[in-house]
Amino acid sequence: MAKGILVIAEQRGGTLRKISLEMVSEGRRLADQSGQPLAAVVLGHGIAEEAKKLAAYGAETIYVADAPELKYYTPEAYTTVIANLVKAQEPDIVLGGASQQGKELAAKLAARLETGLAMDCVGLRLEDGLLIARRPMYAGKVYAEVVCETARPQMATGRPNVFSILEPDSSRSAEVVNLEVALKPEDLRTSLVEELADQTGKVDLTEAVYIVSGGRGMKDGSNFIILEKLADVIGATVGASRSAVDAGWRPQCDQVGQTGKVVNPNMYIACGISGAIQHLAGMGSSKVIVAVNKDPDAPIFQKADYGIVGDLFEVVPLLEEEFKKIM
Ligand SMILES: Cc1cc2nc3c(=O)[nH]c(=O)nc-3n(C[C@H](O)[C@H](O)[C@H](O)COP(=O)(O)OP(=O)(O)OC[C@H]3O[C@@H](n4cnc5c(N)ncnc54)[C@H](O)[C@@H]3O)c2cc1C
Repeated sequence: MAKGILVIAEQRGGTLRKISLEMVSEGRRLADQSGQPLAAVVLGHGIAEEAKKLAAYGAETIYVADAPELKYYTPEAYTTVIANLVKAQEPDIVLGGASQQGKELAAKLAARLETGLAMDCVGLRLEDGLLIARRPMYAGKVYAEVVCETARPQMATGRPNVFSILEPDSSRSAEVVNLEVALKPEDLRTSLVEELADQTGKVDLTEAVYIVSGGRGMKDGSNFIILEKLADVIGATVGASRSAVDAGWRPQCDQVGQTGKVVNPNMYIACGISGAIQHLAGMGSSKVIVAVNKDPDAPIFQKADYGIVGDLFEVVPLLEEEFKKIM
């Protein structure tokens, strides 16, 4: 019978990503509830020491697949390694992060394992052994609770910044199991040609605690400098609406929304953004939303916790000054 919870932990450049700690922590909570063992798997090259850190977050077994071919994520190779592990260990539940990489990997893995998958979940709980996964649908207009009744493992990915990270407990230890990596040529159809690292040094939008975003109301790409200055003061990452991206004012990787990134910061400051449903789909679950818009009827105000009706070119510099006093 399938038993245990397995968390797919993600690393980039040899460092575990925040989403990995979030999902291992959530796995720990579910394991405590159900009395099931918790394992994690990390793939990469030269990552054995980093992988051991997951013990402090509650993983009892850490599977490490360490090979040069796994240094960079490729869908085929990663799917094969994890699918082989799942077939051998038969966990009841497999969790991953709903990051760009995690979403692709989980979908491929679920297809390979012929099981169901609840993607981009914002809540997970167990009822009579069934994983109840809460996930947004229709761009966040409704939430559904989904279960995978018969197929195993039960699979789910968690939305970044939703599941809290447990306080690391260095007294915890884990058994580290090194996996044999034997990949066939068909598992290596994709190779990384070039890695274009973000040179800004800013936290990625999906992991940002504070975000300052600009929309069409910014009027020009050069005006984003006022958002950059505010962001510097509060330690935020700058995002954008699709209109701002389509206008060429910001790169596509800055886009927040249905066809951009899904973010979940502690505070999201939307400047000159009307609040279209496709934008809300990407930032609607932010913990605090502040909107600056000169139109009092802009839909964003229906979603905002704090609304400032005014010209952003006057309001944003004032916010910067005020934050400087308290930060
Ligand atoms: C399939 C599909 C997918 C999409 N995906 C996305 C997505 O991922 N992300 C996304 O953002 N959009 C997406 N869109 C587009 C979306 O529908 C909206 O068109 C877009 O979000 C609008 O961007 P905006 O709010 O910047 O611009 P607008 O809707 O034009 O709003 C600009 C706002 O700025 C305000 N403003 C103007 N000047 C000032 C000023 N000086 N001070 C203060 N406020 C000012 C105006 O009052 C207005 O409310 C998608 C659309 C489709 C059809």
